[in-house]
Amino acid sequence: MTTPNKARDRLRIAIQKSGRMADVSQDLLARCGLKFRQSRDKLFCFGESMPIDLLLVRDDDIPSLIAQGVCDLGIVGRNVLAEQSLAAVEGTLPVVELCALDNSRCRLSIAVPQDMDYNGPHQLQGLRIATSYPALLGAWLAEHKVEAKIVFLAGSVEIAPKLGTADLICDLVSSGATLVANQLREAVVILESEAVVAGPQTVPPDERGDLRELLLRRIDGVIQVRESKLVMLHAARANVDAIRKMLPNGQMPTLLPIEGSEQVALQAVCYGAITWQHLEDMKRAGASQLLVLPVEKILA
Ligand code: ATP
Ligand code: ZN
Repeated sequence: MTTPNKARDRLRIAIQKSGRMADVSQDLLARCGLKFRQSRDKLFCFGESMPIDLLLVRDDDIPSLIAQGVCDLGIVGRNVLAEQSLAAVEGTLPVVELCALDNSRCRLSIAVPQDMDYNGPHQLQGLRIATSYPALLGAWLAEHKVEAKIVFLAGSVEIAPKLGTADLICDLVSSGATLVANQLREAVVILESEAVVAGPQTVPPDERGDLRELLLRRIDGVIQVRESKLVMLHAARANVDAIRKMLPNGQMPTLLPIEGSEQVALQAVCYGAITWQHLEDMKRAGASQLLVLPVEKILA
C-alpha cells in the first residue's frame, strides 16, 4: 500500500471485510460496475475497471481511515459513524454521511429487564448501563438530563445485566431475538441505523473528487433501480391524465403516437411497487397492452 497522505490519483473505498455488511457492500460496488483484483492478503484490492481501489477492514476502522485521509469513502453502519463522529479526534477530517443505502437496518436501543416498567428517561437516573456506544448513549443521557453510569463493553453487552455488571443495556437490535433470549425488553430507540456511504465533508480538489462524484451518482442509480419499474401501456389521449395519476411516483411519462391509431403509447419509470390492483385500475380507466418491466440501469 502507498503512503496514505501522499497525493493519490486513485480513489479508495473501505468496506467491511467480513460480517453482516460485507456481502451487500461488495454487491453494491459490483452493481456500480467496479471490478477488483483480489490480492493475496485480501486487505487491498486493486480496481481493474476504474481507478477505484478497495480496502477490506473491520467496520469500526472505517470512519477513522476516512478521517485520516487513508480512504476517500467507506460503507459503514450509521451507528458506527455517528459514535465515532461524536468521539472524533481533533485535527482529523470531519466524516459525514453522504448517502443512505437502505440495508443492514437496525436500531441502537436501551433495553431493560423484562420485569422493569419503563415510563421515561428519568427512570434511568443513577443506574448502570452497559454499551459499546458510550458517546451516543452519553449524548442521549445528557439531552434527557439523566445521570447514569455508562459501563463500556466491547461485546456481549446483552449478558451484562445477568452477570450483575450493569442494570440495563444500550445495544443494537434488529429482530429483538437476542433481547428476548436474555430476558430483556426494548424500551427506547436512540438511533435508527442502516448502512451508509461515509466520506469527508470536503471533496478532494483533484481527480479523486470527480471519481467520488461519479461513484456517488452510480450508487444513487443503483438505489433507484432497486425499486423502479418501467410501465408501458396504450390509451386514448383523453384518458391519459386519469391513468397517469394512478402510477406511483416517478418521472414524467413519455407519450408517443401510435401509427394508424387514435391511441398513444405511454411509458413511465415508476419508483415503488406496481401491484395487480394498479394494473386493473388503469385498465378500467381505459389502458390496454399494459407491460411492467424491471429497470436495469438509471443515469438521470
Ligand atoms: P467487524 O469484525 O467488522 O468489527 P462487527 O462484529 O462489528 O464486525 P457485524 O456484526 O458484522 O459487525 O455488524 C456490522 C453492522 O451491521 C453493525 O454495525 C450494524 O450497523 C449492522 N447491524 C444490522 N443488524 C444488526 C444486529 N442485529 N446486530 C448488530 N449489528 C447489526
Ligand atoms: Zn465491528
